[in-house]
Amino acid sequence: MLDPARIAALAETDIQPANHLIDGTSCAASDGGRRDVISPIDGRAITTLAWGTEDDTTRAISAARRAFDDGRWSGLAPAARKAILLKWAQLIEDNALELAVLGVRENGTEISMALKAESFSAAGTIRYYAEAIDKIYGQIAPTGPDVLGLVHHDPVGVVGAIVPWNFPLMIGAWKLGPALAAGNTVVLKPAETASLSLLRLAELGLEAGLPAGVLNVVTGAGHVVGRAIGLSRDVDVLTFTGSGNVGRKLMEYSAQSNLKRIYLELGGKSPNVIFADAPDLDEAIKVSAAGIFRNSGQVCIAGSRLLVERSVHDRVVDGLVKAAEALRVGNPLDPGTGAGAVNSAAQLDRNLGFVEEARAQGRDIRTGGGRILEETGGFYMAPTVVAGVSPQDRIARQEVFGPVLAVIPFDTEEEAVAIANDSEFGLASAVWTSNLSRAHRMVRAIKAGLVHVNTYGGSDLTVPLGGVKQSGNGHDKSLHAFEKFLNLKSAWIKL
Ligand code: NAD
Repeated sequence: MLDPARIAALAETDIQPANHLIDGTSCAASDGGRRDVISPIDGRAITTLAWGTEDDTTRAISAARRAFDDGRWSGLAPAARKAILLKWAQLIEDNALELAVLGVRENGTEISMALKAESFSAAGTIRYYAEAIDKIYGQIAPTGPDVLGLVHHDPVGVVGAIVPWNFPLMIGAWKLGPALAAGNTVVLKPAETASLSLLRLAELGLEAGLPAGVLNVVTGAGHVVGRAIGLSRDVDVLTFTGSGNVGRKLMEYSAQSNLKRIYLELGGKSPNVIFADAPDLDEAIKVSAAGIFRNSGQVCIAGSRLLVERSVHDRVVDGLVKAAEALRVGNPLDPGTGAGAVNSAAQLDRNLGFVEEARAQGRDIRTGGGRILEETGGFYMAPTVVAGVSPQDRIARQEVFGPVLAVIPFDTEEEAVAIANDSEFGLASAVWTSNLSRAHRMVRAIKAGLVHVNTYGGSDLTVPLGGVKQSGNGHDKSLHAFEKFLNLKSAWIKL
């Protein structure tokens, strides 16, 4: 599947200037604004992107409103929507490599991961929700005999979906699959630095038969396009993946406008807790390294805080240093690359800033810590292990969102739980132990939406993903995702 010659050919293809997709039509920004799309592979411009205005966003929302209200999509039988979505999933699969290469050229994820976690994952997600939608029944309430209480599931209406740059197709599909299958229409806002593959995905949706106006994509700045979605009175629900700072703003926009429901999937500082009785320390090291360094650490659930029992601390840290140094960082379009580029120059600077601060505090930068491959013009960072971190350090408390692992030793299970939970975040976590009772105690004790046991990063679509505390309030994936995009409506009928 990963044929280097095909990848190279796709990578050399010119990318046409990209436009919004509004009401089934490709269109430029109302003021003609465009920005260069900079590839993190070599720092060069690969095309230009329509830089959306408030007016563009309003037009897209109006198109979605009309498309919802006239029933061209919500009025179809679920089985009819299913057929179109299944065709879309097939088209995504048929174009999987093209989509993956396009995305990698823009966001820098290694191609081996992008093909699986972006293209095939998106196709699988659309297919999953398509197949589910004609199997969800309403309910008859257990009332007394003289009435009939019915519970309907109605689509909410116009969904605003705002997504980040790390896995645009995967995360985009987590929103689009359930929202569209449930009969809603959508205005999607991709991240500034990861729009191209989502635009292509949406075009394939039109080709599959999504009626005009059902899926609209507006590209551009978050504080313009995203803000306009957040403040719109015509958007009924907003689903967001990204940072806590923007999540806060969205809640404010909702309060200032129509009290639209806001679902937030935010960041994390996920504790990965390795006990000395882990069943296989070498496996724990290998999987933990992948859990922080793949996609250059730009993974929301990255295990970025490593808590290690002191008796195995040195062995684990040495192993992680070796794994970090063995990881091949480089051109993400090379199938042999283990970690690609950091998404943007700004993100690279941010990552380096965290490491510099740790260095200044006297923390032990065991490996990495700097920019590499600068001669390529691209944005690459060496996988970094920082030992001797205090739980109070900024590097232990804030999300870096880069290939930077902060290591904290502990002595007892109670201490591990206390450190793990001493965080404003609660997205993912892991515990490595062969003690069954301890594993279950830890699953109960750790305050996070996801606790892995003796593994990291594994999951599939059937398992919900969402955070607690400041990691968010909504769930992507699984049938639970429908809850965001359906309203319960009750009917009370006197017999
Ligand atoms: P970000 O919050 O900067 O941007 C996310 C999106 O919000 C982008 O599309 C951006 O344009 C938009 N935006 C920016 N300002 C806005 C505003 N004022 N109003 C409305 N929209 C606005 O996040 P990012 O840097 O793109 O992504 C990284 C973050 O995403 C990390 O915190 C990461 O943990 C998080 N993330 C979470 C999950 C999850 O499932 N919980 C998954 C992936 C990424």
